[in-house]
Amino acid sequence: MYFDYAATTPPNEDVLKTFNTVNRDFWANPHALHRPGMRAESLLEQSRKQVLSLLGSSNEFRCVFTSGATESNNLAIKGAAHAYAKRGRHIITSAAEHPSVLYVCQALAHEDFELTVLPVNRDGVVEPKVLEDALRPDTTLVSLMHVNNETGSVNDILRLGAIVKEKSSAVFHVDAAQSVGKYVLELDGGPVDLLTFSAHKFFGLKGAGALIIKQRMGLSTQLHGGGQESGLRSGTADTARAAAIAKALRLSLENRAEVFDRVQSYKEAIAATMQEIEGVDLNGTLENSSPFIINFSVAGVRPETLLHGLADKEIYISTVSACSAQKVAESSVVLATTGSQERARTSIRISLSALTTRDEIETLCSVLGPVIESLRFKKK
Ligand code: PMP
Repeated sequence: MYFDYAATTPPNEDVLKTFNTVNRDFWANPHALHRPGMRAESLLEQSRKQVLSLLGSSNEFRCVFTSGATESNNLAIKGAAHAYAKRGRHIITSAAEHPSVLYVCQALAHEDFELTVLPVNRDGVVEPKVLEDALRPDTTLVSLMHVNNETGSVNDILRLGAIVKEKSSAVFHVDAAQSVGKYVLELDGGPVDLLTFSAHKFFGLKGAGALIIKQRMGLSTQLHGGGQESGLRSGTADTARAAAIAKALRLSLENRAEVFDRVQSYKEAIAATMQEIEGVDLNGTLENSSPFIINFSVAGVRPETLLHGLADKEIYISTVSACSAQKVAESSVVLATTGSQERARTSIRISLSALTTRDEIETLCSVLGPVIESLRFKKK
């Protein structure tokens, strides 16, 4: 039983079929001027349009296909920081961001940019007033995630983005890796300038994603070469991968509302079970978070011991604070959310998807308590 869908999902069979068919029938270089090339180009552009339209954009944005969220975050953050460096060198992010945002911002701070890392509250989200107070005339970029990959905490992107737009001239970047395919995003008319996602989080392929960019926004190129993807991502475009992204997104959004409600009821069942186990604390809140991710700290049990205890029963969860040799790592996201090092060292994540069934949740709920108690008993 797999409860680690926030790490990745299995590719959908129809997505694999699309990938195969397009690779077989549209393999020509989409940048070539001959007829097979033009057929591939036309499919590539159709996929781009479809992705944009599924994200609520008819004309305000363009889509650059990338190898996934890590690359998109790098392009967005380095690309915007460098493009607007003459206007200012102050960038803002939060303490709960994924490393592909936080470490990129920290790398820029070593390059003469000034970085403000906003705290998150006990819900794991950035408070609007905290963002407002941090904005400065020389702020050129604000990068905040939508759904947190460890706790599921959901930032109020529309409200935070509105503050960025009202109070500054900064570019607003959103890492939506854990929300695209699960939430309705209406990009046109909204405050987001740059949006990141990875297709393998919604039953697409790994190594496939995009950066969605507001039209006419300049970004400095991170990958020089043949000038493909409007000069922002050189290299021969992968028509099959692009078609597979569009297909995965369309399929995920087709039954989104039903999946969302069903998974919400699963999360509530897990939370109710965990609340009855002594020494278990929910990281983040139930109200202000995604139904797909739930994060707990289990006092007195090392997370990797719990992970192995459940794996013995073929139940697979994840711990971000994995143990490396003797050193116990802590989750910086749980630390930022709870302020407790102990909780940051003992956190586990359970993540769900459209494939999760009620039977699986019932089994999980029936074994969690006994497994945790048996591990505590062993320790004594
Ligand atoms: N951002 C977030 C919020 C994520 O959850 C992930 C994947 N864990 C990434 C970025 C990076 O995605 P990828 O590994 O596909 O590049």
